[in-house]
Amino acid sequence: MKYISILGSTGSIGTQTLDVVREHSDELKVCAITGNNNIELLKEQILEFSPELCCVMNEGKALLLKNMLSGNIKTEILSGMDGLIAAAEYDKSEIIVTAVSGMIGLKPTVAAIKKGKTIALANKETLVTGGSYIMDLAKLYHSAILPVDSEHSAIFQSLMSSSEKSINKIILTASGGPFRGKDTEYLKNVTIDDALKHPNWSMGKKITIDSATLMNKGLEVIEAKFLFDVKPEQIEVVVHPQSIIHSGVEFCDHSTIAQLGLPDMRVPIQFALFYPRREKNSYKSLSLSEIGKLTFEKPDVNVFKCLGLAFEALKAGGTMPTVLNASNEACVDLFLNKKISFLDIGNINEKIMLKHNPVKIDSIETILAAEVFVKKTLESIL
Ligand code: NDP
Ligand code: MG
Repeated sequence: MKYISILGSTGSIGTQTLDVVREHSDELKVCAITGNNNIELLKEQILEFSPELCCVMNEGKALLLKNMLSGNIKTEILSGMDGLIAAAEYDKSEIIVTAVSGMIGLKPTVAAIKKGKTIALANKETLVTGGSYIMDLAKLYHSAILPVDSEHSAIFQSLMSSSEKSINKIILTASGGPFRGKDTEYLKNVTIDDALKHPNWSMGKKITIDSATLMNKGLEVIEAKFLFDVKPEQIEVVVHPQSIIHSGVEFCDHSTIAQLGLPDMRVPIQFALFYPRREKNSYKSLSLSEIGKLTFEKPDVNVFKCLGLAFEALKAGGTMPTVLNASNEACVDLFLNKKISFLDIGNINEKIMLKHNPVKIDSIETILAAEVFVKKTLESIL
């Protein structure tokens, strides 16, 4: 039996991870789950999976959940950051699926790494905000970081045919999001609902908006740089609207290996949970003849400036990706609350980056200080 903790079990990745557990209930057991607000779903998950621990980030809701559960439930209910960390460090759990959204994932992920746990990393913001500090920490504590993000899982699987040393370039595919092919004039007036209509994937709100601005691809460029230790110039982003080729690697002999599949996040989740084994499942098979055509385009970084900003942030180094990530997270929140327009997201990210002098990340405090810088700068801009 493999024991796992799921941080963010009520979200899109969290619920799909539980689907994988359902499919393999003879081999996977959930010890700890966490959520923020959705206590109705947490209650259902407790009744179905009987985890030993459940953390509700929101303290008031944690009390409500306790009341909703009858006395004979054995699950311990915790709340707040301490509870989230307890789920990440849970003794019995071998693998921690980090599926919370945003940089709130940093502290629990660091805690899990320090316990030498295997991290099934969905929460890309943690790696973007912490960069090489996270990777070095993982090496120090012998904690494996296995990508769940479909592109990085594809790169990871492609690399199984050779090694990181022989990479020529990484080919990072992007669906292009709901506004593929649109110009800046069009984007001036798009609404929240327009931005939330992703053509291929059903995901949480934050990542769906990031997919519309192409910031998601920018965050993935940064994620790839740190996970696979490549130079930014070695990462080529290609728009591939069908989302069948999930990404690939061109090796030094000019042979390219890529991973293909229908867009279904349960595949990379399962791969991370069973790595290095492949396991059967009941998911749909890929039929290339039914799909017929796979197409590719260059992304338009003039219209989708967030993607260009990610490369700039990597060039600047140190805390610049941290600042871009924190600024973007705040901007997405403001956009979802109708305080700024869609195009403001990229414009404000750029302004905040211009005001930042990056420093080397040598501790979690440096990361948190960069995030405070963003909060203050944002207040002065708005
Ligand atoms: P969702 O918004 O669907 O889920 C987020 C989860 O985190 C929920 O369980 C939510 O709890 C919890 N959460 C939200 N805010 C907080 C907080 N402040 N403190 C503690 N918990 C919190 O997101 P996704 O599942 O789509 O994405 C999760 C991560 O995975 C992101 O980093 C994303 O970039 C990454 N990812 C997602 C993919 C996808 O297909 N969805 C693909 C690749 C990567 P509650 O629901 O109870 O409020
Ligand atoms: Mg992805």
